[in-house]
Amino acid sequence: MTSTAATSDCLFCRIVAGEVPADKVAENDDALGFRDLNPQAPTHVLVIPKVHSPTLPELASEQPSAALAVLVMAREVAEAEGIVDGYRLAFNNGAGAQQTVFHAHVHVLGGREFTWPPG
Ligand code: AMP
Ligand code: ZN
Repeated sequence: MTSTAATSDCLFCRIVAGEVPADKVAENDDALGFRDLNPQAPTHVLVIPKVHSPTLPELASEQPSAALAVLVMAREVAEAEGIVDGYRLAFNNGAGAQQTVFHAHVHVLGGREFTWPPG
């Protein structure tokens, strides 16, 4: 799957297309931020590229500017949510790392204490 092949059976492509509702918190030409349906912290926002790629590292190889836009928006979301003093960005890459939606996304988590190493 290339980064430009939006698929009608990709949930996050459908959110980008407006076919599936989402609680949006940020949007520009390249990226979209919306609240996770199953939050793992008081702030839990997903930031995704508008183009399709299975993971952010793959997108970074194919379209670096699109991957960078995701990171920039993640920081903007953290600032807007008031969590810049301690927030976690999480990328689950592959089923073995509990990735369940195979459209690149970063989890922006904050508003509670975190532990290390992650589970
Ligand atoms: P991952 O396990 O890294 O692939 O993360 C996928 C995330 O998407 C999970 O945290 C889900 O709770 C979240 N999710 C799934 N469907 C939706 C949806 N329709 N709107 C918002 N978040 C969703
Ligand atoms: Zn997609």
